[in-house]
Amino acid sequence: MTDRLPGFATLAIHAGAQPDPTTGARSTPIYQTTSFVFNDADHAASLFGLQAFGNIYTRIGNPTNAVLEERVAALEGGTAALAVASGHAAQMVTFQALLQPGDEFIAARQAYGGTINQFTHTFKSFGWNVVWADADDIASFERAVTPRTKAIFIESIANPGGSITDIEAVAAVARKAGVPLIVDNTLASPYLIRPIDHGADIVLHSATKFLGGHGTSIAGIIVDAGTFDWSRDNKYPILSEPRPEYHGIKLQETFGNFAFAIACRVIGLRDLGPALSPFNAFMILTGIETLPLRVQRHSDNAKAVAEFLSTHPAVAAVNYSGLSSSRYYNLARKYAPKGAGAVFTFSLKGGYDAGVNLVSNLKLFSHLANVGDTRSLVIHPASTTHSQLDDAAKTKAGAGPDIVRVSIGIEDKEDIIADLDQALRG
Ligand SMILES: *Cc1c(COP(=O)(O)O)cnc(C)c1O
Repeated sequence: MTDRLPGFATLAIHAGAQPDPTTGARSTPIYQTTSFVFNDADHAASLFGLQAFGNIYTRIGNPTNAVLEERVAALEGGTAALAVASGHAAQMVTFQALLQPGDEFIAARQAYGGTINQFTHTFKSFGWNVVWADADDIASFERAVTPRTKAIFIESIANPGGSITDIEAVAAVARKAGVPLIVDNTLASPYLIRPIDHGADIVLHSATKFLGGHGTSIAGIIVDAGTFDWSRDNKYPILSEPRPEYHGIKLQETFGNFAFAIACRVIGLRDLGPALSPFNAFMILTGIETLPLRVQRHSDNAKAVAEFLSTHPAVAAVNYSGLSSSRYYNLARKYAPKGAGAVFTFSLKGGYDAGVNLVSNLKLFSHLANVGDTRSLVIHPASTTHSQLDDAAKTKAGAGPDIVRVSIGIEDKEDIIADLDQALRG
């Protein structure tokens, strides 16, 4: 062994895992069990009182899920992570730990359609008030800060527009406001962008997408950067005040730089209940082993497809941050030098009808509501993922009526391009 720190590809395969101590199994076993036997009554009491770490019940933790958590924390450069049932559950559990009814958070409106929906309607019903900002206008975040602001939320690469957010600039606003920066890193994956290196305090994933990578399993991850002081000003009582159900311990005081991950587990996951099935954790773990290979290939293919589309006579515009013509090109070179990801949008000269025709003529592409599958995927956001928004909000979110979104797969790029070419002729 050398003193070398393991590289990203090595961590993607090994972080968090070891041969099973009982059987020697090399792959992480699926611990498909709801509950775990205590050694004795004292052991049980100490687990329930958070005086010892260990397995109790799979709603709160499971050994297969724990390997996934440790692996993603390592890949993102965080102190700890929590796996939950979906990307949306990751957002719900995160905000539950931070907000009291009546509080506000600022979010970039360049966001996944489901996130806009969750924040606007369901979070509102909890008394958590979203204030929208424009990821292309850093001053809009500053203007949105009030004494009730408890967090700032952005996507590193925004879904569906594929735009790159200036994470360091937004992190500076968050630091000045004394609130954590939450970055949804779903579209980039830690292979392309590690938001913690640029000032993020919490990183979220829909592991459903590139981490799993094969379109088989829904999952979400919360990563704690360990960077935020939760006890300042008592703004985050769940983390700073005594917890009656845990003998009055204060989570920040007891767990230090992984207190946020603990709070999400022992309060949010325990009480809201969106536990990840160990089977799905296994599927995501297996996907992560090839993350660097897949995401590099996704990005290389996407760049080739974007270049093809940008010279095509039927195409009005291609919004891919990896093209030098993109307004995000410099941000892409800074934050995602290995590639700008697989997901981008383009618009057709024929407008809405041409978009609908294209989607129906494609053969290799699958028409569906997902990204980050090995397969090439296409969707018309205006009539699907973003259909609940009005036209102005659609356009602001990068999902206007003439826009088509693609998630470029890892097939042969010549086949992907040929399929688009025949469909555009169609
Ligand atoms: C898909 C997605 C989500 C929601 O994740 P689920 O796993 O579907 O709940 C959140 N953010 C982004 C950027 C996504 O692409």
